Amino acid sequence: MDLGVSGLRVLITAGGAGIGRAMAEAFAGGGSSVHLCDIDDAALADTASALPEVSVQSCDVSDPKAVDSFFAEGLQRLGGLDVLINNAGISGPTKPVEEISDAEWRQTLSVNLDGQFYCLRKAVPALRAAGGGSIVNLSSAAGRFGFPLRTPYVASKWAIVGMTKSLAMELGKDKIRVNCLCPGPVDGDRIRRVIAAKAEQRGITEAEMEAELLKDVSLNCFVSPQDIANMAVYLASPAGATISGQAISIDGNIEVLK
Ligand code: NAD
Repeated sequence: MDLGVSGLRVLITAGGAGIGRAMAEAFAGGGSSVHLCDIDDAALADTASALPEVSVQSCDVSDPKAVDSFFAEGLQRLGGLDVLINNAGISGPTKPVEEISDAEWRQTLSVNLDGQFYCLRKAVPALRAAGGGSIVNLSSAAGRFGFPLRTPYVASKWAIVGMTKSLAMELGKDKIRVNCLCPGPVDGDRIRRVIAAKAEQRGITEAEMEAELLKDVSLNCFVSPQDIANMAVYLASPAGATISGQAISIDGNIEVLK
């Protein structure tokens, strides 16, 4: 899909694996210049060898000083900024609220919400200097529904929707579009492990467990990291020039989260 993103300068957080890695492949494949960070050095080394045209840097997005260094090096390497993909996020605990520790709450909010804020405040002046651009924040289907036992994650992902809509209003005059993506569960090793563990717990087959997970998804599917990356590329491209302030679901239409 050539949407005309050649030459765009793109920063991606948590680009060493998963959705962020697919974003890097999609933008670099379209001819964009990409600089990405991750907290996992092995994932960075793997990405650097698979995508030699992409530059990589170690950074924990929950550390504001590390984010400042990521932007300093990234902006210098890219020569400016057209696109920020604010992707880093962790799952947080799966527990009843009264069992969640201060540390678990803080860590989830620090990575998922504070990390996006640290990146946004560095990106905006650079995007303004470029005459505009595109910010894509990663929310989740958990930013649209309640999701029992996942309170910190859900709180962080709803907050991202509010932050996105506010910034779209604040930055429209600068031609900076701000959107967020709300993916459903991504197919891959992790969901397969979850399915296997739940199937064993419940004494049912993995196929039965998968069918149960998918029964509230209208299109009866998981999504791929590439599906999500394609939307980010679209939003950053000229085709997305009039889209801002939106929380866009890529999830096969999840009807409810349980
Ligand atoms: P992932 O768990 O596969 O991790 C991707 C990368 O993030 C890893 O390489 C990891 O090292 C890095 N990372 C973790 N903490 C970091 C930190 N503090 N600083 C920098 N890098 C860090 O993630 P994913 O599943 O690709 O998810 C990416 C985003 O999409 C997240 O915001 C997540 O909440 C959201 N999301 C994912 C799914 C899903 O099913 N995978 C669904 C909805 C939303």
